[in-house]
Amino acid sequence: MKKVLILHTGGTISMVQQAAGVTVTDRHPLSETLDVLPDDIEVKVEEIFNLPSPHIRPQEMLQLKRRITGAQEEGFDGVVITHGTDTLEETAYFLDLTLSKKLAVVITGAMRSSNEIGADGLYNYVQSIITAADDESKNQGVLVVMNDEIHAARFVTKTHTTSVDTFRTPTFGPIGILSKQKVIFIKEVVEHHVFDINKVAGNIQLVKAYAGMDEFIFNLIAEQSVDGVIIEALGAGNLPPQTLPGIKKILDKKIPIALVSRCSNGIAQDIYDYPGGGVQLSKLGISFVRGLSGQKARLRMLVGINAGLSGQELAKFMIG
Ligand code: ASP
Repeated sequence: MKKVLILHTGGTISMVQQAAGVTVTDRHPLSETLDVLPDDIEVKVEEIFNLPSPHIRPQEMLQLKRRITGAQEEGFDGVVITHGTDTLEETAYFLDLTLSKKLAVVITGAMRSSNEIGADGLYNYVQSIITAADDESKNQGVLVVMNDEIHAARFVTKTHTTSVDTFRTPTFGPIGILSKQKVIFIKEVVEHHVFDINKVAGNIQLVKAYAGMDEFIFNLIAEQSVDGVIIEALGAGNLPPQTLPGIKKILDKKIPIALVSRCSNGIAQDIYDYPGGGVQLSKLGISFVRGLSGQKARLRMLVGINAGLSGQELAKFMIG
């Protein structure tokens, strides 16, 4: 018998559609569905909190990490987290960076609330439990299971506002699929360092670049108490030259800056040697993060800082 711990956190998967809009319910819609699970899987269900995912902060992510660490000692084979889809990828990546790989951890959600036609919550839930109970899921880091696909936490992202086929892994693709109720992995996740952090303190700002951007926002940031900055830069990793004076003010204050691309495919790289080009940004001391989105790079820096990294060590960690 396999043992899977379910942690409900809220989101559309736990909500109902009413005349005024999609709302939270008193009774979790998945609480009476256990008879649809395979006989060899036993589940324990906990509602750790009940929040729409735009309300979830690193503090709640840390709470989940602590509960899952406890589940390792309690003999569970796997954990399934149900979560709102808006920030699901961020919780998944935070846990991926902070949990050891001893047990399978799967995160899922739904794009349609429980009483909508074609609701996908129960289906994703059952497929996630089956994945969490599968021995092959154990050494893959945190997994996102939605719409019959298995994605690694690091690069998966929500790509569509309403479609059930919203979670994708640009550039690299999913690492597995579910065919009916069979789990099939087609790739292995590359090993990465895990930090067992116990706090999530720090103010890390995320800024998106655009044509014609100047130093305005960077000047404001340089005047504040900020612990780090992530920039979603243009193309392979370039910025308009008018941003540079403000960026230099931030770097002069020894505040780390890491850069990702605002493109949804490919990785940021220091290729262009013109004012604001990647080569010059790199020489200024900005780290180029390999393939992460801005929101995930932000969590990576938060985890790095709370693990005690700074200076060159933090810059190296940010590359990924
Ligand atoms: N707005 C919802 C949330 O993230 C969306 C969802 O769950 O699908 O909580």
